[in-house]
Amino acid sequence: MFVETLIIGNGFAGRSVAHGLKGPCLIVERGEKFNIFERRARFNAMEKADRHDALIRRSYESKHAFNVPEELPPDCASDYILVDGGCSNHWGGLSFRLSQAMFEQKVEAFRWPFDFQTIQPYYREAEQLLRISADPRDPDERNPLTEIKGTERWHEALSPFFPQAYIGAQAHNLSMEQVEGQGLCMGAGDCELCPMDAKTRSLHIRAQARVLNEVLVERLRFEGGKAVEAICHTPRGPLSIRFDRVIIAAHGVESLKLLWKSDLPAEVPQAFMGRYCQDHAVAELACRLPQAKIPFFQVNTAAQVVIPELSGELDGIEYTTLGLMTPGNDAALAGSLDLDKLNDWAIRESLEDLAGTLSLYILLEIPPQWDVSLFYEGGGVRMDSDGYHGNKHRYDAVIEAIYTKMETLGAIPVRAAEQLHYRDAFGTHHLVGMLNMSAGDNAVVGADFRLKGSDNVYIAGSSLFPRCGSRNPTVTVVALARMLADQLNDHA
Ligand SMILES: Cc1cc2nc3c(=O)[nH]c(=O)nc-3n(C[C@H](O)[C@H](O)[C@H](O)COP(=O)(O)OP(=O)(O)OC[C@H]3O[C@@H](n4cnc5c(N)ncnc54)[C@H](O)[C@@H]3O)c2cc1C
Repeated sequence: MFVETLIIGNGFAGRSVAHGLKGPCLIVERGEKFNIFERRARFNAMEKADRHDALIRRSYESKHAFNVPEELPPDCASDYILVDGGCSNHWGGLSFRLSQAMFEQKVEAFRWPFDFQTIQPYYREAEQLLRISADPRDPDERNPLTEIKGTERWHEALSPFFPQAYIGAQAHNLSMEQVEGQGLCMGAGDCELCPMDAKTRSLHIRAQARVLNEVLVERLRFEGGKAVEAICHTPRGPLSIRFDRVIIAAHGVESLKLLWKSDLPAEVPQAFMGRYCQDHAVAELACRLPQAKIPFFQVNTAAQVVIPELSGELDGIEYTTLGLMTPGNDAALAGSLDLDKLNDWAIRESLEDLAGTLSLYILLEIPPQWDVSLFYEGGGVRMDSDGYHGNKHRYDAVIEAIYTKMETLGAIPVRAAEQLHYRDAFGTHHLVGMLNMSAGDNAVVGADFRLKGSDNVYIAGSSLFPRCGSRNPTVTVVALARMLADQLNDHA
């Protein structure tokens, strides 16, 4: 089989490139097609003996033995799935642009090869493709398809403390004909396997490309600097696909693995492949907002509130604080309860304190300088996380800074609810970096998205990011994929 352009992976990255490319292309995808409602039924039928997120992941498992993801070490809580569309089914839909500061990084080795203004038009396109619903107060220069309804109640409750707070944008499965409201989203809060299929998935992005499912690309064969053939494995036996150019969009670990298994030209900077892996570490905190009545469940979508006043950068670590829109856990509520008030029979007043308890989820950047790395050994992917463990103590100062900010703004920290997950492990399923396109000599991929040392291998996806910061990556993944498609069209 011969194709002009071969795309490996049918997730957001691969499909967004295909959406923008002029001319024919073929997407190969190792995962099988599936019905999302059948997967939801599978989840409902499961004995609820394991963690909710682990059960959701199991519901997505592929039927093929060749689609078992690499097992990452216990101190990395991130993972991924290998069905048609990959993690672009499983994601939560929280949609951010990266902060401008990420594009103003001084150190070349971690600097993006273009500036913040260059990516803006692609962000706008990505937000349309992902069908973003946003808060009218969203500070980024958003291009949402619709507004999230019910945001005013949240602004009202939080503004005495956090006047800049806004509801984080969400990607909704809206049809172009019906762009009002949140589509089918009823705020069920189970976005990772939505019972209504109301969150945007990669298959909702239209692309003219033909998709060949259940085709695993094992490796690429090169002739000199040019990749000429994808050696594939399918349930029906081996398959060879020859091509003019190939775009690898197989998500962080698998894109890397595919390259490691290929006979790469000597000029490819292999020493930097797998380095600067960035994900996010997490802490959970809580605070009490005196006299506030937080309107839990009062927007018709499952979302989080972004609190700029409790976000920022310290010691080279960007952090973003999200307020949860569901009531606090037992520790947060117990920590908010004033027993003296209760003992004085101020029952109503002390119960009202609970209505002002806000749980917080802190996304902490793992800076690329910490050099968490993946490498390939004994036929499997391994991780070196020493750089993380040697530096994670720095997060303690970030947490203290957040507490200080709270107090300055009149919020009362509920320290009893503190959960510093970062001390044990990291990982929010954002496998970023590893095939970086930095402006420095350590870049593996050029500003033209081409694997250095190759003539015709292009990379799409979050592995390109020289620096991610503390924000979720998918809007940027889609924006970059559109930028890549434009460059290839211009080149043609
Ligand atoms: C639980 C969870 C929650 C998340 N929540 C958010 C969120 O709220 N906001 C956010 O911005 N991001 C979130 N993410 C991250 C988001 O899912 C990813 O950024 C996004 O899906 C990446 O898209 P992709 O196309 O690069 O990868 P994928 O969507 O994983 O697509 C890669 C595709 O390549 C296929 N493939 C892999 N190897 C091969 C091969 N060798 N041959 C053929 N095909 C191959 C895979 O089967 C897969 O379909 C979350 C991720 C997870 C897992």
